[in-house]
Amino acid sequence: MDSLVKSPWVVHYNCNSCNGCDIEFLACLTPLYDAERFGILHVGNPKHADMLVVTGAVNHRNSRVLRRVYEQMPEPKVVVALGVCTATGGIFAEGYNVLGGIDRVIPVDVFVPGCPPRPEAMIDGIVAALSRLSAKGRGQEVGPAKKDRITYQRPSDPAAEGKDDAAHRP
Ligand code: SF4
Repeated sequence: MDSLVKSPWVVHYNCNSCNGCDIEFLACLTPLYDAERFGILHVGNPKHADMLVVTGAVNHRNSRVLRRVYEQMPEPKVVVALGVCTATGGIFAEGYNVLGGIDRVIPVDVFVPGCPPRPEAMIDGIVAALSRLSAKGRGQEVGPAKKDRITYQRPSDPAAEGKDDAAHRP
């Protein structure tokens, strides 16, 4: 099973991003950042993928698609959430249909903070997910993903706290 982490196949789903994170993720696949040196192959079919990379803020409509993509992937599998929008909703968090973090819909293994994260950070998060993929393949329990490096959190209720909402935005 450890051989799996030497050639992970990755499928990417854009939940509703501004495309900033998607552009940086695509940069990871170029010769400049060369994610393929870790054996990573970008595929289009979730049934072939070991890792799901998600960008953007999940909402009521695309949450069904996100769950369907996740459920089509074979076990073991891992999820990497790129950018603050996947973690909290980010700048879209106040949208009427935004649910918040994608962990409200599917389990997440690694959160990569940033708006957008740099390609190096994305590759770092993907490589971090490989150790969790290996552990899952051996049947080991993995703990919940950590959000504590995230720099932007959805404000609870700025009006109730008497604070200016703009002060909470990135
Ligand atoms: S984290 Fe920033 S760059 Fe990424 S989708 Fe959200 S707003 Fe766009």
